[in-house]
Amino acid sequence: MSGYCAIAPGHPFHGPYHDREHGHPTTDEAVLFERLMLEVNQAGLSWLVVLRKRAAFNAAFHGFNVDAVAAMTPEDVERLMQDAGIVRNRLKIEAALHNARVIQGLRASHGGFAQWLAAHHPLTKADWVKLFRRTFRFTGGEIVGEFLMSIGYLPLAHAPDCPVDQELAGLGQPWREAVAAGFVY
Ligand SMILES: [Zn+2]
Repeated sequence: MSGYCAIAPGHPFHGPYHDREHGHPTTDEAVLFERLMLEVNQAGLSWLVVLRKRAAFNAAFHGFNVDAVAAMTPEDVERLMQDAGIVRNRLKIEAALHNARVIQGLRASHGGFAQWLAAHHPLTKADWVKLFRRTFRFTGGEIVGEFLMSIGYLPLAHAPDCPVDQELAGLGQPWREAVAAGFVY
């Protein structure tokens, strides 16, 4: 095995994420929103930093309840800029509020964030990045690629010889269905 599958198992933070979350499909709005914002916050830092701060992020952003974050105010942003538990980056904090409001809009246009993803699937990574850039804030190529890989919309979350990869083969990852239907990533 190589990459994340080699270093993550048994690690106090990476292990549980690798085994039970990374690459696993989900349609839960708060889970999708949390994952997107954790990837946004990883930018310039590391996934380990983000996992260590995960509990603080959830406390600061109301468990990533979309409506609660969408209702946050400029005063909340100033308060979070003093919260040492999270990443104190104004653009990232403001992106959380903005993206929560975008997700509220996706409920109206598509039925929700999960339905919006399903409606555009399958796309190549490059086309997903274009779509995210014109929909969300702070969603560059690496962030979008890692986010979509982590929820099964892009391949290679796990090495082919990782036991979790074999588990996921039976769990309806969207990218596998696309490849089976002839789509080329
Ligand atoms: Zn793995």
